[in-house]
Amino acid sequence: MVFQPNTLKTNRLFFLKRIAVAEPKLSTREKEYVLDCIDTNWISSNGKYVEQFERGFARFCGVKHAIATNNGTTALHLALVGLGLQPGDEVIIPTVTYIATANAVHYCGATPVLVDVCAGTVNIDPDEIEKKITSRTKGIIPVHLFGHPVDMDAINTLAARHGLWVLEDAAQAHGAQVHGKNVGGLGTCATFSFYGNKIITTGEGGMITTNDDALEARLRLYRGQGMDPLRRYWFPVVGFNYRMTNIQAAIGLAQLENIDCALSERHRLAGWYNNALESLRKKIVLPSQAPWARHVYWMYNIFLREGDAHLRDEVMVRMDAMGIETRPVFYPMHVLPPYREESGYPVADLWSQRGINLPTHLHMRLADVERVRDALDQSLGGDS
Ligand SMILES: *Cc1c(COP(=O)(O)O)cnc(C)c1O
Repeated sequence: MVFQPNTLKTNRLFFLKRIAVAEPKLSTREKEYVLDCIDTNWISSNGKYVEQFERGFARFCGVKHAIATNNGTTALHLALVGLGLQPGDEVIIPTVTYIATANAVHYCGATPVLVDVCAGTVNIDPDEIEKKITSRTKGIIPVHLFGHPVDMDAINTLAARHGLWVLEDAAQAHGAQVHGKNVGGLGTCATFSFYGNKIITTGEGGMITTNDDALEARLRLYRGQGMDPLRRYWFPVVGFNYRMTNIQAAIGLAQLENIDCALSERHRLAGWYNNALESLRKKIVLPSQAPWARHVYWMYNIFLREGDAHLRDEVMVRMDAMGIETRPVFYPMHVLPPYREESGYPVADLWSQRGINLPTHLHMRLADVERVRDALDQSLGGDS
């Protein structure tokens, strides 16, 4: 069988191993700690790994307290309960986020009030927040989307002026920094996720970080069904079971012990992408990093040029056929049935439809990045 030169290239790509958009990276340390849980019979939500993971994570974020939960969505819900959110209240969130941010507000009977985003990072636009603040507004949830932190100085200035709390949704941004300070300690409190595709993982898991002692006590109370810590089986409030298991925490602790290395590998990967994609700059927008920010590249995110939004889904289908899994940037909340609004978010509309998450995980080598580049180039109909 004789291949034409261009089909040869496509077929060579086709027979190579599929590149997933995200994958966890585990080591022998995770295995050792999990086996220790089983050997010692501490498999439920008490045990030394929960405490060690919480303490280590608090230190990593530079805060006094960290409270582990069973996932990132329950961390958000629990934080909002701890902050005293009530039915009828309003909370400011970006329209471009993962739906858990909006849902957690909804679980409290409160209303998520959407705000448009910045071009490029698709993070919440601080300049658009003030016009959405009403007498019912209780707080702001900035989301550090795809690993690039939000301009927290601007958010905190606004919050202080209006007497609002600030909850960082840092589910995608473990280790991201604003002016050299880690996210997680930049607002009233912050939440993280340890789902399998996040920067570090516990399978399923979450964490709340805060410097507020009274908030910490409320979070621990509500996380454990509301049981009085000094009186067993006495429940002064209606709480939840949002506890993390010792097994999850064992995996989390091992992941945390390696996080500096994992973050530098992510930066190396982003550097490979920046170099490889330089030649496609006429067709795509590459991610950027604000001068005050450390981006942790949870997802290496590119955008097609303005006017090319209609090509996006076809590009992703073609890349998939070449063994490269990608993901679209999240649909904005204002186009989804539960939170639908007809208009008012021009930047989100313009950017979310053109965004593609390229594979971003620590099993990738330089050769994989080059394969992604070739597949993207060919999918865009290019020959560069
Ligand atoms: C992943 C994620 C969550 C929810 O975390 P889960 O652990 O999946 O429940 C919340 N917010 C954002 C921005 C996320 O990316």
